[in-house]
Amino acid sequence: MRILQKYRMRAPSTGREVIVLAEPDKVYVDHETGERLEPVAQLLPLAPTASELPWAIDNLRFCNHCDQLSQRDLLDCPWCGQRMEALAD
Ligand SMILES: [Zn+2]
Repeated sequence: MRILQKYRMRAPSTGREVIVLAEPDKVYVDHETGERLEPVAQLLPLAPTASELPWAIDNLRFCNHCDQLSQRDLLDCPWCGQRMEALAD
C-alpha cells in the first residue's frame, strides 16, 4: 500500500519535469539547476492506494464475478472481494 502521494514537479527555468513521491513539508530541488521544484499535478491513483497504475481504460478490466471495472494489476476485485480470473495476455 502506497501512503505518499505522487506529484509531477517542474523546474521553473528549464521546464524539466520529474515524478516525485512527495513527503509532506519536504522541499524538492532539481538536481541540475538546484532550484526548487514546483508541483504541477497530482498523479492518479491518489494515495493511499495499492495500485501504481492510473485509472485509464487500458489499465482496467471487468471482474468475472460481479462485472465491475477494476484495476488490471489487482488479484482480488475491490468491489466483490473475490479472486479474479487470470488475465490471458
Ligand atoms: Zn468483482
